[in-house]
Amino acid sequence: MQPVDPTQPYDPDNIFARILRDEIPSTRVYEDEWAIAFHDIAPVAPVHVLVIPRGAYVSWDDFSDRAPAEEVAGFVRAVGNVARQLGLVEQGYRLINNIGPDGGQIVPHLHVHLLGGRVMGPMLTPQ
Ligand code: AMP
Repeated sequence: MQPVDPTQPYDPDNIFARILRDEIPSTRVYEDEWAIAFHDIAPVAPVHVLVIPRGAYVSWDDFSDRAPAEEVAGFVRAVGNVARQLGLVEQGYRLINNIGPDGGQIVPHLHVHLLGGRVMGPMLTPQ
C-alpha cells in the first residue's frame, strides 16, 4: 500500500472506515461513543490493538486541527480506557501514531497503535 498523504481529503472508503461500518470484519476489544479498538491484523507485540476515532479524520494532524474539544477528550480517554481494560498499566505499554510518508502511515484514518505484553526496547533504531 502507498503511504498516506496527510493533506488529502478524508477517503470514506478507507479500510478503517469500512471496519467502523462493519463492512469488513475486525476483532473489537472496546467501543464507546467516540472510538473503537480492535486487534491489528499483523501484530508486532503480544498485545497490538488499534484505537480509532468514530469521526472522519485522516491523521493526528487533521484531528488536532479540526476535532471539537469534546471529541479530542473522548478519543484520548478511550485510548487510556483500552489500556486499562487490557490490564497494561502496571507493566506499561507503548503508543504509536504514524503521520504521513515519513511517519510510515498506511491507512488514512487516524489510529493509535497500542502495544504491550513485552519490553518494547529502543524507540527507534539509530541510523
Ligand atoms: P499505519 O502504518 O500506522 O498506517 O498502520 C496501519 C496498521 O493497520 C498496520 O499495523 C496494519 O497491520 C493494520 N491493518 C491493516 N488492515 C487491517 C485490518 N483489516 N484489520 C486490522 N488491522 C489492519
